[in-house]
Amino acid sequence: MKTSARRPFIAGNWKLNNSVIESLTLIKHLRDQLDSASYVAEVAIAPTFTVLITANLALEGTGIGLAGQDCYWESQGAFTGEISAPMLADVGCKYVIVGHSERRQYFGETDETVNRKVRAVLAAGLTPIVCVGETLAEREADRTLEIVGRQVRGALEGLPPEAVGKLVLAYEPVWAIGTGKVATSAQAQDVHGAIRGLLVELAGDEVAQSVRIQYGGSVKPDNAAELLAQPDVDGALVGGASLKAEDFAAIVLAAG
Ligand code: PEP
Repeated sequence: MKTSARRPFIAGNWKLNNSVIESLTLIKHLRDQLDSASYVAEVAIAPTFTVLITANLALEGTGIGLAGQDCYWESQGAFTGEISAPMLADVGCKYVIVGHSERRQYFGETDETVNRKVRAVLAAGLTPIVCVGETLAEREADRTLEIVGRQVRGALEGLPPEAVGKLVLAYEPVWAIGTGKVATSAQAQDVHGAIRGLLVELAGDEVAQSVRIQYGGSVKPDNAAELLAQPDVDGALVGGASLKAEDFAAIVLAAG
């Protein structure tokens, strides 16, 4: 068991999956697993936008928080197809995932747009879960820390230390997302430790020690405990395994 004061945070990213009925069934199964269990982790799920209002009602009384998978940086206006951070707050979200590698890869997300979104999420009183991570080619070229460092600096650009203290970071090596190839606990700890070092530089030691850094990338019940035992791994952002109530609950319990 770790001695860190940081409460582990396990979040499930459902991505583009589940109708309303399927989502309600998954939440029911999750409640069957977790309602009477005792665990220390903070827990959240990120269903699709169309499910959020219903999911918020279904989660009532569970302590499981709701997250948006993305948002736009403007609050309102002529931006067809977008959803804003205040709108996510309005339907019960507490968190918003920002800068997921799928957004960077398929939807043109850049460090600059991530920064704008982080600011918008904080301004709406929500917690950004800021994703960073290198591709396989970048890791093989020994550029992991350079890439992740650039993404963290970009996401946090211009934020005062107290704002940095309000966010959550997620280290998600792109080569481990949805591939079944998980980073070793040593690889994860190396990068998490480096991110924490960068946070010290950007926001001071006290803030850096308080910020949770999740690991994401093929986290499953059988590898979660070892990853979560690393000193700078403060939780997990879980994709595929969050779509199975038993697996997600096992990961929550693995956090202590
Ligand atoms: C993710 O998409 O954030 C993720 C970590 O996915 P998976 O767990 O399926 O690798």
